[in-house]
Amino acid sequence: MKTTSVVLGLLLALALPGAPAQAYKLTKTEGGDVVSWLANCRTFYMDPAGWPGGRGEALTKAVSQSILVWDGVECSDLTVAYGGEVEALKAGYASCGNNRNEITFRGSWSYMQEAVAYTTLTYLADDGTLVDADIECNLDDFELTLYPADNPQAMDLQSVLTHEMGHAVGLDHSADGDSTMYFSAPPGEVKKRTLSDDDRDGLCQLYPAGTLDQDCGAGTTPWVTPTRTCSATAAAAAPWEVAGSLGGRGGRRRGGWWWW
Ligand SMILES: [Zn+2]
Repeated sequence: MKTTSVVLGLLLALALPGAPAQAYKLTKTEGGDVVSWLANCRTFYMDPAGWPGGRGEALTKAVSQSILVWDGVECSDLTVAYGGEVEALKAGYASCGNNRNEITFRGSWSYMQEAVAYTTLTYLADDGTLVDADIECNLDDFELTLYPADNPQAMDLQSVLTHEMGHAVGLDHSADGDSTMYFSAPPGEVKKRTLSDDDRDGLCQLYPAGTLDQDCGAGTTPWVTPTRTCSATAAAAAPWEVAGSLGGRGGRRRGGWWWW
């Protein structure tokens, strides 16, 4: 994770001044393969248990909008949906588990405290096929809000989740300061709720129109359950790579900058 931050910092420095025409960056495996969903119709769920305001319409709206803004982009085939509320247990891929893609809120944070949220991606090491993406929000070190206009010192939950969803579909940090996938932003900022042209360009390079099966009909499993690891022996062989995508989240706090 620290290595990632250093490399991104270098990219940002080299990119100045002015944003390059193509600033987005795709997540890649250690072997250099692009990390992406192979099948369409990815569904994301929310466990609202850790949200301090309790469940409610405003929370559902912020979460579902952060997902749906990535859906139906004209030049892209990717279909993503909000699947409702679940009880999430643990982030990351579990052999033989249901491996739903889940969004959770943590009052106790085990990652670096500068991260306001964290997306755990699990993908096949040999070709980058995503099998699980889970997003955790850090309520231990940050205040997140559904109403940034009323509480501009807090981080806007919908913006944070929209950025993390970009990681969940395979985008890394962009060098374009106006993009949702830029690594940082000040508290109260809401512009990351919507996608920039650079974000859309990255999504459309990952999932160009006409390349994914559009059938999201009945019988489609809304999460991926690969059979190849569903045994103790196969799990031990571990054909997976797991990567944490730190969502860049900027803001001044105790004189420093946050990353997420
Ligand atoms: Zn990020």
